[in-house]
Amino acid sequence: MITLKSAREVSNMREAGRIVALALQELGKRVVPGVTTGELNQFADEFMRREGAEPAFLGYQGFPASICASVNEEVVHGIPGLKKLENGDIISIDIGAVYHGYVGDATLTFPVGEISAEASRLLQVTRQSLFEGIGRAVPGNRIGDISAAVQQFVEAHGYQVVRDFVGHGVGARMHEEPQVPNFGRAGMGPRLQPGMTIAIEPMVNVGTYEVMVMPNHWTAVTRDHSLSAHFEHTVLITGGQPEILTQV
Ligand code: MG
Repeated sequence: MITLKSAREVSNMREAGRIVALALQELGKRVVPGVTTGELNQFADEFMRREGAEPAFLGYQGFPASICASVNEEVVHGIPGLKKLENGDIISIDIGAVYHGYVGDATLTFPVGEISAEASRLLQVTRQSLFEGIGRAVPGNRIGDISAAVQQFVEAHGYQVVRDFVGHGVGARMHEEPQVPNFGRAGMGPRLQPGMTIAIEPMVNVGTYEVMVMPNHWTAVTRDHSLSAHFEHTVLITGGQPEILTQV
């Protein structure tokens, strides 16, 4: 069932989203060569709690950390730990916060130091594909309009969208209906209505869209070990243009 959020629910989601956006802004300053993904996780965990929120990911289906930190060919669900970032890496940081029972969920991919022209282009295309999707998140459109806009933009730039992980409704739970795939056909799927809140989150690979999950049962990597990037916002469907809840 797709839930439409009340004004009270939206205001809690706005606050959760604000905390997530601020945390990402602060994390960006700390993404430098030599920092470990575990240190970034600890910072994010403390930041969310200081702001009056709980980390949404910690313990979710057994996930052991408060952020996902996915480096280079890691697509999603990287587990923070002792890995030290190196100059030229890219790191996707996915973070969720729960404020008064409501979730904000967002992801940015950051460059570490100086990155290659290809990596830089991947980040630009993936970020823009998210905004292509957000631009279609208006009442009367369908989920497939978002999906198709993301896929077409990505493929026009020679990259591939991941199929095995998709965006989702979000609110009182981190994953609600509907699913929001980053591929598909315009005009298909549930119709968008004011009050719906969805996380749109393209994961884009330089090479094949196929991924495999590592023996830790969490971390997905590109099957051909090509680079992957990931951008995500939690978005409210309004009567007009969508409201991005996870930006400051
Ligand atoms: Mg998400």
